[in-house]
Amino acid sequence: MEIQEKKSLKEYSTYKIGGKADYFCVIKQKNDIAEAIDFAKRNSFKIFFLGGGSNVLFSDKGFPGVIAKIENNLLEIVENCDKHVKIRCGAGVELSKLGSLCVQKGLTGFEWAAGIPGTIGGAVRGNAGAYGGEMKDCVLKIFAIDKGDENLEVQEIDVRECEFEYRSSTFKNNPNLLVWEIELELKKGASDEVKAKTREVFQKRNEGQPSVGKFPSVGCMFKNPTVSQEVVDNFEFDREQKSRGDKVPAGWLIDRCDLKGERIGGAMIDHKQANFIVNMGDATSEDVLILMSLIKMKVRNKFKVQLEEEVKIVM
Ligand SMILES: Cc1cc2nc3c(=O)[nH]c(=O)nc-3n(C[C@H](O)[C@H](O)[C@H](O)COP(=O)(O)OP(=O)(O)OC[C@H]3O[C@@H](n4cnc5c(N)ncnc54)[C@H](O)[C@@H]3O)c2cc1C
Repeated sequence: MEIQEKKSLKEYSTYKIGGKADYFCVIKQKNDIAEAIDFAKRNSFKIFFLGGGSNVLFSDKGFPGVIAKIENNLLEIVENCDKHVKIRCGAGVELSKLGSLCVQKGLTGFEWAAGIPGTIGGAVRGNAGAYGGEMKDCVLKIFAIDKGDENLEVQEIDVRECEFEYRSSTFKNNPNLLVWEIELELKKGASDEVKAKTREVFQKRNEGQPSVGKFPSVGCMFKNPTVSQEVVDNFEFDREQKSRGDKVPAGWLIDRCDLKGERIGGAMIDHKQANFIVNMGDATSEDVLILMSLIKMKVRNKFKVQLEEEVKIVM
């Protein structure tokens, strides 16, 4: 495995923001993990494991250590029954690649993920979701590696033990745990229907986030928070729609603070989806962080709600 020096991180984040990593390597097989960890340990460097870079904000100052990009691309049907299919999938496989396989083979249950960038590993860690679907709904088991384990043995974790919750999992709660491979189950359906449903999700996404295709971003900056009944009532009255229990969209709170279009340097709060901060071309991590602070302060002052980051800030 090659370890490169002074690698620009801009090209490894969908945000197109970030300085240089002191060291950078690509993890294709299990042995590469041991090599990368050993290199970092011997030199007392920090190590950060990266997927597709669609949920990270890298610092303009770069990363003082090793960035290890996971690219194990196994994608294999391991069980093919009358009604369902089981798939074994490497953490480095892009969601779009799995989505294409589903369309091609007429497998249903993964259409919600259409248009979400990033890899399976990142999606499992954050229990990625959209339009009523979540990663946890199709995962059966995870093959994980504990970075702290000297032998780096692969452990099998049943989905019920993964503590999956809204944008969270045991892998997020325990940063030592790496998702290495997963097994998921999808139902057999009609190829045409899967294709139509996937297209519908793409269309909804394009309508809700029009500037996102135009300007780089990393998706939602903040998780949808739990709020008081008063704020829930306020949301339901304003949007004429039901809230999800005691959670309301962070984007609605930000919008209600009149922050759409607010700009710091090259970073701007999106005009359509207020929970997105887009890079207008020359945004720095500092610009984004200032806008994030402004959002948190305004939302806290107006609604007494503390927003929590969904994006991972890597310094
Ligand atoms: C335009 C756009 C739209 C988006 N829409 C959605 C959406 O609808 N729903 C949604 O949930 N998200 C959305 N996202 C956010 C993002 O795509 C997802 O969170 C995605 O799952 C992140 O995966 P990644 O591989 O890019 O992770 P990265 O950005 O590479 O990493 C994110 C975190 O995951 C960790 N990680 C990565 N791989 C592994 C692994 N194998 N094991 C353990 N930890 C790992 C990293 O260390 C880091 O802490 C969107 C992003 C963009 C840019």
